[in-house]
Amino acid sequence: MNFQHDADFAARLDRADPLARYRDLFHVPAGSVYLCGNSLGLQPKSTAAAVQQELEDWQRLGVEGHEHARNPWMPYHSFVTGSLARLTGALPEEVVAMNGLTVNLHLMMVSFYQPTAERHKIIMEANAFPSDRYAVESQLRNHGYDPATTLVILQPREGEIVLRDDDVLDAIARHGAETALVLMGGVNYYTGQLFDMESITREARKHGCRVAFDLAHAAGNVPLRLHDWGPDFCCWCSYKYLNAGPGGVAGCFVHERHASNFSLPRFAGWWGHDQATRFQMGPEFHAMRGVEGWQLSNPPIFSMAALKASLEIFDQAGMNALRAKSEQLTGYMEFLLQPLTRRGVRILTPAEPSRRGCQLSLTMPAHGRRIFDTLIADKMICDWREPDCIRVAPAPLYNSFADVFDFVAALTAALARAGG
Ligand SMILES: *Cc1c(COP(=O)(O)O)cnc(C)c1O
Repeated sequence: MNFQHDADFAARLDRADPLARYRDLFHVPAGSVYLCGNSLGLQPKSTAAAVQQELEDWQRLGVEGHEHARNPWMPYHSFVTGSLARLTGALPEEVVAMNGLTVNLHLMMVSFYQPTAERHKIIMEANAFPSDRYAVESQLRNHGYDPATTLVILQPREGEIVLRDDDVLDAIARHGAETALVLMGGVNYYTGQLFDMESITREARKHGCRVAFDLAHAAGNVPLRLHDWGPDFCCWCSYKYLNAGPGGVAGCFVHERHASNFSLPRFAGWWGHDQATRFQMGPEFHAMRGVEGWQLSNPPIFSMAALKASLEIFDQAGMNALRAKSEQLTGYMEFLLQPLTRRGVRILTPAEPSRRGCQLSLTMPAHGRRIFDTLIADKMICDWREPDCIRVAPAPLYNSFADVFDFVAALTAALARAGG
């Protein structure tokens, strides 16, 4: 598409946008341009009623709500299974909503990081989200390994900002024989780089490594085909692009080939117990088939209700339509930013749509923090990541082309004021 620089053009794109009506399903903070769905997605208007329904059923029914709530609490996690499977390209038995993201990473590493003397390394990308790094290093130490010698961090080439896809594959080939687990972001939180999950999975498995993706910045952002790609496990949170609210219940994928591998080490809890006999309350643990066998606790119903309400919107819109709009929105933002790149604004995110999601990560020629503060004062809601990065994420469910236009206009003015 050939973009144009005038505001009328943004209005025309909005009029032609088949997903434009979805914006009205969300509470958009008054007076602001909200470009922070990569950090905390906006609240769907349907969320309040969904949570209220569970509060009412608890009032009316007390403990009987487990069976008689309009959405019974006992099987509640299963009400989001279909949506999660569609969202991630998984089979229903491969996905579950449970816990928080970092909790799930740990649970999965208990099962899928099984180091041996010959094969104990973990491969991660540079600039991984700190929580992932902490989780991985603590798992390594828990097995008696020193992260300095067992953690392989993939660095971009000298003078480059993002990893080359081929370099990732070469590194996996090089370290593969000693590597127990390859754990990468689907989309890197800092640069917005989308990794080639299919090729990474193929290469890692070719070398006998387990392979996993943190999809915090990928779920609800880019189409996924987890079952076909074939990673061992994936984890994601639901409060970013998935709009399930602060601290929302996270998601987890375990590939079907492990569905009835009950000999894997795992940390167990009663909600992972075979549901047919769970309430016999026996002393022996018998895991359910599939990823549900990794559940620990009965799920947080209010949080699940918010997740369910949000996922219904994804089901209506469809990830393919969302992705089509997303590529346009982000492409439009990149186009509008071009004149600023000649004044020293740098886009860290890859330019190829196939190598990024909706987010663009920007650095300023100088005074980055001051420019960011000006944007926030102008109600341009984006975020700052140390040391010098402004992240902006136009989300196709609720952002408009006019939002993108307004943001770039505000950034242009902020740069001028900062003397950039
Ligand atoms: C947001 C994010 C997290 C946050 O972890 P929580 O356990 O949900 O607090 C972890 N990893 C990545 C890659 C993230 O983007």
